[in-house]
Amino acid sequence: MKEVGMKKERPDRSDPAADELEALRQAIDAIDHDMVALLKARQEQVERVLALKRAHGLSVYHPAREENLISEKRRMARAVGLDPDFLEDLFRRILRQSRVEQTAQLARRGTKPGARILLVGGAGAMGRYLQRWFREAGYEVRLLDRDDWDEVADLCDGIALALLSVPIDRTAAAARRLAPHLPPDCLLSDITSLKAAPLAAMLAAHPGPVVGLHPLFGPATTSMDKQVVITTPGRRPAQCQWLLDQFADWGAIVIQADPGEHDEAMDVIQALRHFAAFTFGKFLFERRVALDRALDFSSPIYRLELGMVGRLFAQDPGLYSEIILATPGRLHLLRDYLASLQDSLALLETGDKAAFEALFRDIAAWFDPFSGQALRETTYLIDKLIERF
Ligand code: NAD
Repeated sequence: MKEVGMKKERPDRSDPAADELEALRQAIDAIDHDMVALLKARQEQVERVLALKRAHGLSVYHPAREENLISEKRRMARAVGLDPDFLEDLFRRILRQSRVEQTAQLARRGTKPGARILLVGGAGAMGRYLQRWFREAGYEVRLLDRDDWDEVADLCDGIALALLSVPIDRTAAAARRLAPHLPPDCLLSDITSLKAAPLAAMLAAHPGPVVGLHPLFGPATTSMDKQVVITTPGRRPAQCQWLLDQFADWGAIVIQADPGEHDEAMDVIQALRHFAAFTFGKFLFERRVALDRALDFSSPIYRLELGMVGRLFAQDPGLYSEIILATPGRLHLLRDYLASLQDSLALLETGDKAAFEALFRDIAAWFDPFSGQALRETTYLIDKLIERF
């Protein structure tokens, strides 16, 4: 392959700078060599920390320790005249690597090893995904899918957990059908993207321990490092804790919420956002916008925005229709959104530039507490995008 704009350099013995350059390069190679040896030494220390954490049942991710460490590295960078952003980047990458390695080892440790688990909807995308994680952590996993209800009594025999991973609108019925067969101390849980109705149905159906879960990630996620799992407590929390600890051992951050609060947040975080991405993509499709050309002309931020829309259409349509149509309230919200879009258009149609700018300023003032963070985080993402593509 012909490389354009790259010339292979060879030391030119007739050039007096060549020897000096060669010596400097060798010094840099030696430093790189030391850096690799130091990273290896660091990894060995991390493994000792992991052994200690394992022995004492401590969690892998310590947000406060990581933030202190990063602040300290930024301070050190400034002290020696290095770019603090560069050092922060470097150390965040090192920390992530050590977290991923630690969680990969902890993943193989069950918080209730050998326990029997029934995954209802186990043949589905999330069911297959969770099956792998539980099996690797030493659990005995059984599956119950649509056509297996005849065997429900046998499948429930001696199980410590029944985890519902069926479509949202099947969760309540599955809980009711399953409950008569569950051992009294069996934990009943679900991973449905909606929490209030499924949790109420599980509590009504089963008198034993109950907890709702919502992993905010899909089955394509290879590592659970820093992925969020929302938990909505149901009944007998002490008997549910091992399941939450298991997700924490896998690297996830487990956040407790009230089911109503969760569903209200998801109206906006999932339903509205997916709808906005869907309608934007639909409009590009209807206009047959030339995506490759649009990308050629795109600034990195637009590329990122288009990427988010492309990402939506790279996934299963059923997942999105299910989320958007999960509650009648979500359609009301989308109607309000549409009315707001129409208001904005009506304002632009008046040609009143000053009114538009005044409204813009009002919204900016409301966003203000988040603006600094928004700029920082998106600038970081854009830099990463430029680095890689
Ligand atoms: P999926 O359609 O791939 O799998 C659902 C499975 O349930 C299928 O195998 C289906 O045959 C089975 N099923 C349907 N009705 C059943 C019944 N009555 N009894 C037994 N099995 C039945 O869906 P998925 O993406 O795996 O999602 C499952 C659940 O996980 C949903 O509640 C969804 O909200 C939640 N969730 C999904 C994701 C994701 O990204 N896919 C993320 C978080 C949470």
